[in-house]
This record gives sequence, C-alpha cells and structure tokens, in this order.
Amino acid sequence: MARGAVNKALAARLAALEEERDARVLVEEAVDVTLPYDRVPAGARHPLTTLMERVADVFVAMGYEVAEGPEVEAEWFNFDALNFVPDHPARQMQDTFFVQGADGARNDESGVVLRTHTSPVQARALLDREPPVYVVCPGRVYRTDELDATHTPVFHQIELLAVDEGLTMADLKGTLDHMVQALFGEGMKTRLRPNYFPFTEPSAEMDMVCYVCRGESVGNPDRPCRTCGSEGWIELGGCGMVNPKVLTACGVDPAKYSGFAFGFGIERMLMFRHNVEDMRDMVEGDVRFTRPFGMEI
Ligand SMILES: [Zn+2]
Repeated sequence: MARGAVNKALAARLAALEEERDARVLVEEAVDVTLPYDRVPAGARHPLTTLMERVADVFVAMGYEVAEGPEVEAEWFNFDALNFVPDHPARQMQDTFFVQGADGARNDESGVVLRTHTSPVQARALLDREPPVYVVCPGRVYRTDELDATHTPVFHQIELLAVDEGLTMADLKGTLDHMVQALFGEGMKTRLRPNYFPFTEPSAEMDMVCYVCRGESVGNPDRPCRTCGSEGWIELGGCGMVNPKVLTACGVDPAKYSGFAFGFGIERMLMFRHNVEDMRDMVEGDVRFTRPFGMEI
C-alpha cells in the first residue's frame, strides 16, 4: 500500500520534471531561421598555392627536398651561373626588372634583379650541398610583362633538379611521366620536343597528352576538345640535361656527375586544369573566383 503510493508519487514527479524540461528546451534551443546570416566565412589558401604544393608533394614523395631562394636575386645566380651569355636578350631591361646595376654597371660587379625564373635556386642548391642533389623549387618570379588575359608580371614556377652519378634523359622522362600520372591520372604520357635553353643541353619542350580527350579529338571533327584545341597534347614546360657549364659554375664535376632539370608555370597549369580563361582572375583577389576551388587551408 505504502509502496504503491511512493511509486505513484515518483511517477507524477518524473512526468512533471520531463514536462518542465521539454518546455525549457523549446525556449532555449529555439532557432530563429529568419535571423540574418552573420558568420564570417572561413578563409582558404589561394588555388595557386595549393596547386603548387600539390606538385611539390609529388616530388617530396619521391625523396626530393623542397628548396627556396630569395626573390631579389644577384644577377650572377639568375643569369651567369646558368650559362646566359653577357649579351643574352633575356638580360635586357624589357624582360627583367633590375633592382640595381643595370646597363652601365661596372663589368666586374653582379647586378641585382627580381628573379626571372626559379632556376637560380638550382645554382644555390648545388653550391650548398654535395651531390647527389634532388630538389624541387617552387616560387614566385618576375618579368616586365603587362597584366592581361595571358600575361602577368608576377607569376609562379616550380622547378626540379636532380644531380647524381649516371643520370640520363631516360630518368628525366620517367620522372615526368610519373608526375603527370600523379597529377592527372593513370595512363598519362609525356613527349619531348627539341628546344634550346642556355642552362640545359640537350634541351626539350615537354608536352603531356591532353587529359580530357586523351588525344581522341585529333582529326575527329565530331569530338572537338576545348582544352587542347584538338591538338591532343598540352605544352607544359621546359626541361633537359643540366649543361656541364652550369655544373662547373656551381662546383660540381661534370665528368663524374650528370643531372636533369625541369620547370613550368603554375598559372598556366591552373588555367588549363580548371578552364580559367583570364589570368587576371587569379590575382585580383575576388573570392567568387577562388571559392569554387574549395576551402583547403
Ligand atoms: Zn584534348
């Protein structure tokens, strides 16, 4: 009898407490969906940065070390060490931003430039280390171009350098094939076309097979490809075997060591990889451009 009364009282009290809790939850956890959205959106890194790091990661996974150098660079590192002759056209003011010691400087002094490519980092890497050297050099570079849809005075390059005993063009080709497969998927191929650069000999222009049509648009008007212009190949960058003169200038014995180098522009890769049509979109800082790339931080 007494037990029944206690149980009854307990049940009544529990019901009262539950009711009270439900009422409180309704008030405290109410969400006013009509309130204005005032949360500050999370920031994210620029797609150029994330793409550059992704490319560098491909090489880090192969055992390469990331190397960096100054953007304001001695003319000697930017040109002389890389076998650019003194009157090479790239040294002129219309291509290069001179900080100091342009035309008229004393011949025995190295001028100072905003680096026009990431290649001076190769020279620095070789002078700093004993071979074997395997480095990947991402970075910002400068040329005296006007900003328009396909040019920008400040852009990014990534470059790799391998110096070891017995390296050949076959090692370069295998490395490039691995890189495009890591970035664009299985079955991607590269091809080399003869070219000239002062710092490599022999030198080649490197193309990768179009990752959209895989070459099937060539001679096939029913399947045109916008990405490669129905060419089947996309030009990616320059490469070659390191010129023995560069090895000598950097204190490496070319009789014992050989090396290969490869470099390309990140902006160009971002353009064809993501169908970006105007280079200005990458530098103007409008979040409507960067947002579709996701919020990678
Ligand atoms: Zn294509």
